[in-house]
Formats: sequence, C-alpha cells, structure tokens
Amino acid sequence: MLICASCNARVPADPLVWRCPCGGVLDLTEPPTVDPIDLGLITTPLVEIADPNLDLRVKIEGQLPTGSFKDRGSAVLVAALAARGATVAVADSSGNAGASIAAHCAAAGLRLELYTPATASPGKLVQARAHGADVHLIDGPRQAATDAARAAVAAGAAYATHAWSPYFLAGTAVFGRELEAQLGRAPDALVIPVGAGTLLLGAWQALGGRTRLYAVQSVACTPLATAFTAGADEPAEIVPERSVAEGVMMARPPRGGQVLQAVRETGGAVLALGDDAIGPALHRLAAVGVLPEPTAALSVAAVERLSAEGALAPGETVVCALTGHGLKAPAAIADVLRLSG
Ligand SMILES: [Zn+2]
Repeated sequence: MLICASCNARVPADPLVWRCPCGGVLDLTEPPTVDPIDLGLITTPLVEIADPNLDLRVKIEGQLPTGSFKDRGSAVLVAALAARGATVAVADSSGNAGASIAAHCAAAGLRLELYTPATASPGKLVQARAHGADVHLIDGPRQAATDAARAAVAAGAAYATHAWSPYFLAGTAVFGRELEAQLGRAPDALVIPVGAGTLLLGAWQALGGRTRLYAVQSVACTPLATAFTAGADEPAEIVPERSVAEGVMMARPPRGGQVLQAVRETGGAVLALGDDAIGPALHRLAAVGVLPEPTAALSVAAVERLSAEGALAPGETVVCALTGHGLKAPAAIADVLRLSG
C-alpha cells in the first residue's frame, strides 16, 4: 500500500502513482518486491579521514555506476516502472538524477523524455543524451521545466521523479543498511548535503533514531535550514540564488517536511553554508586523495562547523556522504580550488 504523509489516505501500491490527490507525498507501507536494475551497484567505500577530534569517515557515493548516489534510487524506481509496463518515462532533472534515470531507462528499454531549463549547463546533460534521453530545453525558470514534465505525465507517460517517488527512497535506504554493516553499528552522526533530501530519508528509514542526522544546505537555497531555525514543520518559501553547490539547489523539496521531522527526531540539525566553506573542505579531501563534486564537500565543511559548535563530541564516529564524483564538475572544482593551467 501507499500512504499519504499529509492526509493519511491509503491507495494500492503503484509506481505510476507519484503523489496523493491532496498534493501530499506517498510512502510505501511495506518494502517493494521489485528487483533493482543492476548496472554495477556496489557497496561504496567508507574511507577514514584523519581528524584531530573525531572518528571521521566519508562514504564515497561517486563510485556508483553513473557517479552519484542517485543510482541507488533510480535502480529501484525505473525497475518498478518497467515491471508495471511503462515504456516511456518523463523526468525533469538536469543534474545527477537526470543522468542516473537516463542510464537506468536505457538498461530497462524505456524511452526517457527529460525536461530541463534552457539555461542548464550543456555539460550536465551529456550523460543523459549519451544514454539516449530526449532532452527538451524549456525557457523560463526551473518550475517551467517541471510544469512541462507534468503536462507530459498527464498525457500518459510515467513520471520518474526522484524527489517524490517512494520507490526511489526504497533504493536510498540501502545506503543506511550498507553503512551500518560496514561499521558494525550505526554511526553517531551522519552528515548529508540536502536538496530533495532523498538520501537522508533513506538513511533515516534504515537507521531509525540511532544516528543523529545533519542536513547541509547552501546559503543560496535554504528552504529547510530557514524552516529548521524558525521551528517550522514545512519548507520555507525562498528565492534561490547562485551557488557552486548546484546539487542542492531545490527551492521546494516535496519531502521537506519529512526531512525536518527526521532531523528533529534524531537530535540532528539543518545548517546552511556558503560557497566560501566549500573550497577548504574540498581541498582537505583532495589532499588525501578523495575528490567529490563541490556540492558533496558541503558535508565535510559542515563537520568543521558542527565540531566548533560542540554538536559533535570528541571521539564520535561521524560519516559524511560524498554524494557525487568530482569528475561531474571539473570546471567548478578548478574554480573552487583556484587551479590554473
Ligand atoms: Zn493526501
């Protein structure tokens, strides 16, 4: 069954149903039985980073098949759509989710119609195009691409939406189970860059209240950090600005209320950091051989802030999710690290 997080309505489980008629997000009441598409899903490495105060580890999600954690969710979501008989899927991400959904649709034999803002960086669309996605460039703000995608869904296509789909979350929950198996226990704290919040919610499903969850946003886009500070239950209305942390630029996360609940129930927090914090964190990782995309470095930058504030106690085991591979954004890395030549 699917249950609505807003009105508690129940409907039979169906991957083609992406939200409740009331507008709320839907959750599965039991695990899906679908076999994930396996493009080489691995147990991602958990690597120690020397730290004077903490047992600090990074989990390198960039080593998944298309270079980001999104593969965990896409593997289940696209498999569920294919098993339901879908032949055409629609998505409206121009970033890591679009690349990941495109690869999994190619593997499953689904055609993907990808709607993206006309202003999206062409480089971010290369993976999706390579995997055969039909890319539709939509003029106007980000919302215009979403509206165009929704129109295609209304016309009968399946909506492969990472931000809404509970099947996607079933895939990201594997992250939490895998992490606990690697450590032999749940970590004390988990720090995750958050746009839609799907990796954090998957970790919450798997680890329950045993790990404090910290969500990290960019100061350029703070719907959750603003709501957390204000004590609000739903994301704040904000107007996003520009940031090198392009992976967390989601102004209206559909599951934002659930992210706020997860963070509060586990004793964690939501914080927002500026681009100026990303450079030192990225440099710290690169200097020991680890290179995530700049968005992912927000997690390590947050550890330094949380340690300074006393939120992380000396000796605690703290895990940072490095959500995407550095080669996703070579130009941004060159800029952030001031590399030349
Ligand atoms: Zn509802």
